[in-house]
Amino acid sequence: MAYDRYNYSEDEDVYLEPELRGKGSNDLHLCGKGLKEIPAAYLANLYDPNCILRLDLSNNLFTDMKELTYFRNLVSIDISCNPITEIPSQLSECTNLRNFVAKSTHIEELPDFFKDLTKLHTINLSGNRIKFFPEVLIEMPGLKILYLGANEIQYLPYSIGRMANLELLYLGGNELRDIPATIGDLKSLNHLTLSGNKLETIPPTVAQLQNLELLAIHDNEIRTLPTGIVKLQNLQQLSLRNNPLVNNFVHNYAFDPPMLKELAGRVVRRHHDLDIVPRHLIPNDLLRYLTSASQCVNPKCKGVYFEACIEHVKFVDFCGKYRVPLLQFLCSQTCARRASRERSESVSSSEDDSDDSQQVPANDPRQQRLQRVLIGQ
Ligand SMILES: [Zn+2]
Repeated sequence: MAYDRYNYSEDEDVYLEPELRGKGSNDLHLCGKGLKEIPAAYLANLYDPNCILRLDLSNNLFTDMKELTYFRNLVSIDISCNPITEIPSQLSECTNLRNFVAKSTHIEELPDFFKDLTKLHTINLSGNRIKFFPEVLIEMPGLKILYLGANEIQYLPYSIGRMANLELLYLGGNELRDIPATIGDLKSLNHLTLSGNKLETIPPTVAQLQNLELLAIHDNEIRTLPTGIVKLQNLQQLSLRNNPLVNNFVHNYAFDPPMLKELAGRVVRRHHDLDIVPRHLIPNDLLRYLTSASQCVNPKCKGVYFEACIEHVKFVDFCGKYRVPLLQFLCSQTCARRASRERSESVSSSEDDSDDSQQVPANDPRQQRLQRVLIGQ
């Protein structure tokens, strides 16, 4: 059936394709018809708009969607590729909505009434003009799938950690410079895409995402990965390409020498077991300080550090094929030099890094599970 799609909406005597009339069907597909509104003739022909559960209005010329007021029982709606600047307020009545898709429109924000759409399970707002992560999303505990790719988001709120039921978070192609540590609280997450941003690091708390199956961080400025990433037991795909992490990893981190308090604290922690010293003999703030020490990761060192530590990049065999740079913290430059020397010796003699506590052994089941590490160009 040939017709001029751009004249279609202006034609009062609209041609109704029989399969789209909606009689006896819960679906109404009005995609790609050049519509500026749903024609009255069309609505009149519907058996009952309340029977429509799935409505596709994508690829049209809508600037508002007043007619949505007739469709109260929608479960799914797609309003992608329309020149709308706001999400239609009529949707606030659609309390059964589970699936909302609005890709490639001119939307900048998400209205507050979304928190009342408690059945919403999937939201896709990719390719819009969103600058700020919509805070209303934090108030939607039912949300499991969230696409916010190709927007202009510069930062994520700390409260993102409250989205505990989120399973898929897609933030590719935004302008993120860092990720809050609270991302590690998204315990249900199995897909996390942060590619195409301006990230220089990802927080070590990503290692807490024990359900993660896919981590996409390609096309960023990442130099190192947090060590704990090798402990993600369910990770099947890790994409790292187009990051400086493999090519130009850096040794010359600025080093602030430890304060006298730290040096004294290190000696105390090295030579005394705090558990057997009577607690009432140590002032509380000193006790708090002493227990805040972190263990140096060099297995031969056995030392601790407080604030002053050395960043050290260690290449770790990740799945039997690739060595990826992990960021570790060592207690001193002496320790870092020793760790570097040992690494270069072990690489020149053999690829087997015998004291490598982070290495994933070849017979580890993780090797089979991790199917793809995308590291090249
Ligand atoms: Zn050390």
